[in-house]
Amino acid sequence: MKSLIAAMLASSIALSASAVVDKNFDYHVDRFADIEVLRYEVPEFDRLTPQQRIMIYYLSQAAQAGRDIIWDQNGKYNLQIRKLLENIYTSFSGDKNSKDYKAFEKYIKQVWFGNGIHHHYSTDKFTPEFSEDFFKEQVALIPDASLPLQPGQTREELISIITPVIFDPTVMPKRVFQDGAFDVVVNSASNLYGEGVTQQEVEDYYNNLKDPNDPEPVSYGLNSRIVKENGEIKEQVYHLNGLYGPAIAKIIYWLDMAKSVAENDAQKAYITKLIDYYITGDLKLFDEYSILWTEETDGDVDFVNGFIESYGDPLGMTGSWESYVNFKNQASTKRTETIASNAQWFEDNSPVDSRFKKDKVKGVSAKVINAAMLAGDAFPSTAIGINLPNANWIRAAHGSKSVTLENITEAYDMASHGNGFNEEFVIDAPTSQIMDDYLYITDMLHTDLHECLGHASGQLLPGVDPDALKENGSALEEARADLFALYYLPDNKLIELGILDNPDAYKAEYYKYMLNGLMTQLNRIEPGKDIEEAHMRNRQLIAAWILDNGKKDKVVELVKKNGKTFIKINDYKKMRNLIGQLLAEIQRIKSEGDYDAGVALINKYAVKVDPKLHKEVLERFASLDIPPYRGFINPVMVPVLGEKGEIVDVSLQYGETYPQQMLRLSKDFKTLGY
Ligand code: ZN
Repeated sequence: MKSLIAAMLASSIALSASAVVDKNFDYHVDRFADIEVLRYEVPEFDRLTPQQRIMIYYLSQAAQAGRDIIWDQNGKYNLQIRKLLENIYTSFSGDKNSKDYKAFEKYIKQVWFGNGIHHHYSTDKFTPEFSEDFFKEQVALIPDASLPLQPGQTREELISIITPVIFDPTVMPKRVFQDGAFDVVVNSASNLYGEGVTQQEVEDYYNNLKDPNDPEPVSYGLNSRIVKENGEIKEQVYHLNGLYGPAIAKIIYWLDMAKSVAENDAQKAYITKLIDYYITGDLKLFDEYSILWTEETDGDVDFVNGFIESYGDPLGMTGSWESYVNFKNQASTKRTETIASNAQWFEDNSPVDSRFKKDKVKGVSAKVINAAMLAGDAFPSTAIGINLPNANWIRAAHGSKSVTLENITEAYDMASHGNGFNEEFVIDAPTSQIMDDYLYITDMLHTDLHECLGHASGQLLPGVDPDALKENGSALEEARADLFALYYLPDNKLIELGILDNPDAYKAEYYKYMLNGLMTQLNRIEPGKDIEEAHMRNRQLIAAWILDNGKKDKVVELVKKNGKTFIKINDYKKMRNLIGQLLAEIQRIKSEGDYDAGVALINKYAVKVDPKLHKEVLERFASLDIPPYRGFINPVMVPVLGEKGEIVDVSLQYGETYPQQMLRLSKDFKTLGY
């Protein structure tokens, strides 16, 4: 539940250029609705051996083989709808300049991006701007054989089910419904729970399974769908002979190929365990795999492939299928290794009550990686940092792996230059200057500290339920990790360690954090709506709390210039003190499982939006034409064949368009029926 830093809006700020990048690389791929699609470069791919590149190729096949799973998890009609839309898209012979077609094109691009009919971030259903008549006319042109019919289903039945799912705003309006005043299971449109299943039934079911005295509990519900059959609650487990079996069979095949060219025995061992888990669905095996995976740090090549993050489940249990294939970025790994090897110093010196600190911070491994393939829930929208595994007891006993996706961060940065953001939102030239000079490095450092130290720090008091904070658990956990990172950015320790060279560098990140948390992230919220997503709640919580609690000393102010609102930070040192105070309090809440205090903080600071300021931010953004959300297409991996048709090497190509890539994936990695 705690390893995803969403690609934040903050990264749309143009940062200073960083390491060695190809200035001629074209990052921009497509633009529609509130989305920009970029491509990323894979630096250092050439330094790998052919065998490492082949391993990456096989793992990438395994990654893409799971694509249909996330579509189906996100909504039970998504695969049928995708097939219908793609049929229309590829066979359309009418006027491509018509209003209906243009709107249709926008819609299919949104659906591709959301891995279904709901927005990847807000989880609200997309609103089609083409007419129902247009849709029906186009579907009528599709021959029966090409229709995504379920066994026994007629064309008429298909159309009568799908049409309201696409067009009626009251049908399946939200994928992840989080308002705890209502039944979040019944009201969520995702496909993680079957028809008629209630939140109470799910909670009862799992409470029955959970042994509160088990020191090593499996991640209940991580790989299953709960359904009601003849009035009885049943778990449909995702595994080779269970739900999603055909997709899992392909994943297993490619994992097995990857194992045959693995770099070392430890990799082979964890791939074997992962395959065993996929075959059986046994969550104990998943934990065993996770431990082996966490402890393997020698290889260059690494990957995530499975049901991992639970942001898509309103109860935070079931993992959305995702995959990242990556390899070590040698040039930048040194930085995070330095941080990780000093983990105990950071833990000991944090402003947190000593009862909540770890005596021994274990195995915080940290590396910077280059993504080579993003898939499932990590595609097209992706994280910029990952910290896994998620199971608390594994993290406590075996540590975790923490990575920063350098080439993704870099692509965000490079694609942002010259977009006018700083001129519009940053208060003055000196602040702009410090951001130009230091925001890239402090942003990277913030991610490192958040992932390597923040999530790994602190401990629960004995007997405290790790899920005690319930629906606020994710937001408070992200806040804890962010605060830990923010607290240490100004610390002399970073200069001592040779990571920063200017004691004022942190001001770049502090300014950006307040600006983003109080203002610019609102660009992702529709007028009149609350903030819901955990990372966004966390950011507003921190920024609004600092503004409020620093009021009497005027630590941070909102000021007006030419009728526009700006963030003014008057006292950076006091701001750091406030960060330390809030870190101590949120760690206390987590360590004691103080649910009520968590609710109070979230409700007071994290959810509500000032409608006037919101409107202003939207207008100022509109004048810039910066898309609120961005994501990526992948490079195309092309196997180089030897004389006998065997793969001897792999090369990368970058030329695909967004629709070309989506259509190719649908064709090549169709595993679940349509
Ligand atoms: Zn995090």
